[in-house]
Amino acid sequence: MDRIGFIGLGQMGWPMARRLAEAGYSLTVADAAPGVADRFAAEFKTSATADMAVLAKASDVVITMLPDGKIVRKVVLDAVAPALAKGSVVLDMSSSAPIGTRELGEDLVKLGLALVDAPVSGGVPRAKDGTLAIMIGGEDKAAIARCRPLLEKMGQSLFETGPLGSGHAMKALNNYVSAAGLIASIEALQIGARFGLSPDAMVDVLNASTGRNNSTEKKLKQYVLSRQFNSGFGLGLMEKDLRTALDLAHQTGIQAPFGDACVELWQKAYADLGAGADHTAVAQLWEKLNNLELTPAAKKQAAE
Ligand code: NAD
Repeated sequence: MDRIGFIGLGQMGWPMARRLAEAGYSLTVADAAPGVADRFAAEFKTSATADMAVLAKASDVVITMLPDGKIVRKVVLDAVAPALAKGSVVLDMSSSAPIGTRELGEDLVKLGLALVDAPVSGGVPRAKDGTLAIMIGGEDKAAIARCRPLLEKMGQSLFETGPLGSGHAMKALNNYVSAAGLIASIEALQIGARFGLSPDAMVDVLNASTGRNNSTEKKLKQYVLSRQFNSGFGLGLMEKDLRTALDLAHQTGIQAPFGDACVELWQKAYADLGAGADHTAVAQLWEKLNNLELTPAAKKQAAE
């Protein structure tokens, strides 16, 4: 059984690392936030360290679950790779940018290390129960084969998407579709509420009709109409994923006018609400524009 290093115990990393600890893997964990790795180690009887070289020396496969690819690159090249034994694997499960992933892969190959990208979808609830969708990119089939048993502990739907970076490309494009679905449904609720429809009833109708999507099913009532805005996926992270998707459009020479409009709206929400807000709080952009708060029974009255 490979020894695992796990870096980044945030909203997603914590429950994902927990799945590995509970499956009996020898695990060394690290996180930049003070006390987090020690808390994890105490709860799940693993090792924790603040020193990435110590983590690297104790690991055959190092998993990163960090905010973005730039942070992954810095942590891996500055601190992890120099201490990893040749033949080890870096498994980046963060939602990183695909071009940066290819570049990192080239740098690591020169050091005798393999990189596999395996970003995830499904959010905190599916990280907790180990049913994430995972998109796996990489040319090194042996490295992927080594990662698969780990990935199977964290995910249910595993897809090999192609060469290195293809998982990250697929993830960014998935989040573009998801982000567009969320704001389209929020806009529809705003229009309907002003007309006199009940937002709560609208969600029921959408979910039984062709407008149904992941946001209508799993986000509108749960996080927006409830006013909880606590899905566990940050607004800043979604905005980053959209930029990644649109960068990819521009890098591949694809015109994406709908995506350009979508990213602009998310960037405006990001500027208004800050990176710390939950991504479902994007609804507040429309609420402010129209002076209409979305509650289960938001009434026409807000038109006044
Ligand atoms: P998060 O902000 O909750 O966690 C990130 C963790 O990384 C934090 O604990 C932070 O302290 C740590 N960190 C940051 N810089 C570090 C460094 N230099 N060294 C060590 N630790 C460092 O983010 P998250 O929601 O867990 O997301 C992680 C990744 O997964 C992101 O790329 C995100 O886009 C992606 N993702 C998130 C979700 C979700 O629902 N939250 C779903 C799918 C994918």
